[in-house]
Amino acid sequence: MSMTDIYSEQTKKRNENRCNLLRALHFNGSLTKTAISDCCNLRKSSITNIVSELLESGWIIECSPGRVRSQLMLNPDSWFFMSVLLTRENLTLARVNFLGDMDIILTDEIKDTSPKVLTEHIASAIKANRNNEFPEVVAVSFPGIVDAQSGTVLYAANFPGWSNIPLGDMLYDRTGCKVKITNDVKAQLLAEGWFSHIFKQSDNVMLLNISGGISCAMFIHGQEVIGAQNSAGEIGHIAAGDEGKLCSCGKLDCLEAYCSIPAMIKMIRESFPDVEECKTASDIYALMKNERRVENIIERCCSRITRVLAPLMAAIDPKLLIVATEFCDFSSFIAQALNNYLKIELAGLSSRDIDITISQPVSDGALRGAAVVLIEEAFATGIISGNTING
Ligand SMILES: [Zn+2]
Repeated sequence: MSMTDIYSEQTKKRNENRCNLLRALHFNGSLTKTAISDCCNLRKSSITNIVSELLESGWIIECSPGRVRSQLMLNPDSWFFMSVLLTRENLTLARVNFLGDMDIILTDEIKDTSPKVLTEHIASAIKANRNNEFPEVVAVSFPGIVDAQSGTVLYAANFPGWSNIPLGDMLYDRTGCKVKITNDVKAQLLAEGWFSHIFKQSDNVMLLNISGGISCAMFIHGQEVIGAQNSAGEIGHIAAGDEGKLCSCGKLDCLEAYCSIPAMIKMIRESFPDVEECKTASDIYALMKNERRVENIIERCCSRITRVLAPLMAAIDPKLLIVATEFCDFSSFIAQALNNYLKIELAGLSSRDIDITISQPVSDGALRGAAVVLIEEAFATGIISGNTING
């Protein structure tokens, strides 16, 4: 083994130890050095070195400064990450810290979704709002099939023309920032895992997102399921009816054409032409409370979703299903309805005993989860875009 190899082995080991230490602080809140040593299975001498450099660089702080056995915690103000979410309607830009606290900085209406115009729109939003508070790395949460490795949007049903668009590279050229692209639903599940600690309950988890489209994200045995074509969990364009409903993808009778939030709203408006305010999941929920027939429409949607969801659940057998919509009370209603229908569809299978819960609103999860990609990379490398920890 050459000196260079020995050096790089040592660096690798040191990075690994630092990453484990940061993760221990993240998942446990605050810990003493002794507790970190137990938690990470590391010698106290190694910990002392790493803690010193992390204190010096400001990534962590002492809970009782100066006290010898002070607990340590991540410094919430050491770094802020810029996270951007695109939906069919809006571009939202937020600031997320190490602890997942989030401020929305900007919400812009999207008028033109063509790749060129929308890319310029994202780039100018990043440039107008980036300052020294942020590292030169940005997270983007995109509602489509994404190759996260290369930063390419492979396909997006609600964004015509978005086929094999190298969004990460295009934004880098325009902003000078490294940009990480994540599928919005995968980001939601990352946020649940990283900030809400759902993996403490189980590492076999599925998240069902019902918003502008319908799709799932999954962790099986603690591993993210991506799929050969980055499309694992994309159930929205499976045929789920025979009424000839046109889907945004151009096909007829996809699940989304019946059960996405816009499809639910369309059905409610057709049945109740006098309804004034019905644009969001929260509007649907308000109408449901006053009109049993609106509730029936949503129940039928849940039954239809279950027929597509049940085979997927039978195939992967998750312990926990998380339901995500933009409005938590509506998510709870859907979760309850799905629970009832799944018991019927999965009768006889152990999958019928699955736990069902709800997540934070989809846009919050998608913004915070995209930032998790940046935080995990920072933990693993000790680098936030050029700002390396000494050592
Ligand atoms: Zn479709």
